[in-house]
Amino acid sequence: MRAIGLVKPCEVAGGIVYVDSMLGWLSRWLRMIGVATVYRDDFNDDELIGLNELVITRDKGLFNRRHGNTLLLLTDDHIHWLAASSIVLNVKPHIGDDSLCPLCGGRLIKVNSGSAIGEVPINVIKRNPVLYRCESCGRYYWVGSHHRGIGHILAVANELISKCIIEHNGSECLISVNE
Ligand SMILES: [Zn+2]
Repeated sequence: MRAIGLVKPCEVAGGIVYVDSMLGWLSRWLRMIGVATVYRDDFNDDELIGLNELVITRDKGLFNRRHGNTLLLLTDDHIHWLAASSIVLNVKPHIGDDSLCPLCGGRLIKVNSGSAIGEVPINVIKRNPVLYRCESCGRYYWVGSHHRGIGHILAVANELISKCIIEHNGSECLISVNE
């Protein structure tokens, strides 16, 4: 058994999530699986302490000082971060129509790849009749060479989730993985 996260309280409502500095990887993955995520690499504790939204952090001091919903990640394993966060948010890691731009959190809309000529490589346009364009930052995404790697991480995260055990302890819950 390996403890991967400590959350308070045990029941967390959905909504916007704040991800503490140094957890940029997690913020990109949460957006990809459709979670509205606010991330900056220069948050300070005072900004995060009073928020009513869920805050995800590696900082035990911040966890102890907060009264609102907080998830403390207990490992440095990135996929464990994704698994623990998904459990708390009650989302199944997946890529779908609700996926958000990993870099800015904007909504992705399907566009005809012909409209992206000059903005993405021509071989991408030839291979993909449909691309996804971020409404906010304008970046384009497509099902390409990275997709197999993304699918692997999602599969590992989902398997981890199926092996997780949640123990209630007062107003906190400890998330452990049985591996
Ligand atoms: Zn974007």
